[in-house]
Amino acid sequence: MEESENTITDYDIIIIGSGPAGLTAAIYAGRALVKTLVVGGRLPGGQLMLTSEVENFPGFSKGVQGQELMQEIREQAERFGVEMQDQDVDSVEFSRKPLRVVAGGREYSTKAAIIATGSSAKWLGIPSEEKLRGRGVSSCATCDGYFFKERRVVVIGGGDTALEEALFLTKYASEVAVIHRRNQLRGSKILQNRALNNKKIRFIWNSTVEEVLGQGKVEGVRVKNAKTGETSIVPCDGVFVAIGFQPNTKVFQGQVQLDEKGYVISAQGTETSLKGVFVAGDVRDHKYRQAVTAAGEGCKAAIDALAYLDEQKEITVAAREK
Ligand code: NAP
Repeated sequence: MEESENTITDYDIIIIGSGPAGLTAAIYAGRALVKTLVVGGRLPGGQLMLTSEVENFPGFSKGVQGQELMQEIREQAERFGVEMQDQDVDSVEFSRKPLRVVAGGREYSTKAAIIATGSSAKWLGIPSEEKLRGRGVSSCATCDGYFFKERRVVVIGGGDTALEEALFLTKYASEVAVIHRRNQLRGSKILQNRALNNKKIRFIWNSTVEEVLGQGKVEGVRVKNAKTGETSIVPCDGVFVAIGFQPNTKVFQGQVQLDEKGYVISAQGTETSLKGVFVAGDVRDHKYRQAVTAAGEGCKAAIDALAYLDEQKEITVAAREK
């Protein structure tokens, strides 16, 4: 019988998300020879696809480009027969068994699911930022840095992302101003040292951006000094917002328990509030948020999901033998 657009295909494990957590789970599930599908999003690969060089993923003494790393992990999972659908998940129904996942107009059913949808860049939430997004306001230096050759840019934030973005932007921009709301950086020492010693980077401390200025394109930002209350204008052509991330859990609202910030609540390692639904990576972890910790959690989630499948099989066999 030919499959219609809405054919339900049965899987043992569906993994939602294709960053390091999702794809590592896929490698483990694939090697366990269970029927596995990764619904990886229309832009698969997660946040590492937006990163330039990754220097802290074990196994790459000379560093590796984020996109190259994700391509390698994906091919590794595919080698073990894992199927990939580069679609966004439209909805899930986890309250009945088998679990259902709808993506790209198709509905899939599965015995177990692993949520590994990661997190996305946060925005300041001011109207001028929204208005000028894509017109000089960006959250991805790797994607947009090229457009700022010999231009002045600002980076907002004081964590590793902001420092990494600032350092990357020095390749193109004539000047990079990092605007941070405190006078102490949150990022790692190595990136702090690099940024503080880079002649193209200057820091504007204790300051928040109140408005992005410009009509049709960015012309500057109005900043307020938290200590003095004074406002000033920093002229620039680009604004890179690098103030952290929020979990991608919209489709899971009302399905599994989320905390007040929207992260999936997990207990006993990778278990969610629902049996048969597991979680891994930045979608539950707001502390470590590293590619390697996400990969580790993906491994754990797959092992837990496989144990769950075995347990279900035993229950079915026992019920039949009664
Ligand atoms: P983060 O560590 O949470 O830092 C966010 C920064 O933005 C903080 O400095 C914060 O200020 C500031 N901020 C937050 N909300 C703000 C707002 N509304 N207005 C102005 N400033 C705001 O996030 P991240 O830098 O994205 O890093 C996330 C995680 O990924 C971290 O664990 C980090 O180590 C990791 N990471 C690692 C690398 C690497 O190792 N190469 C690269 C990127 C990210 P406060 O400091 O005042 O809170």
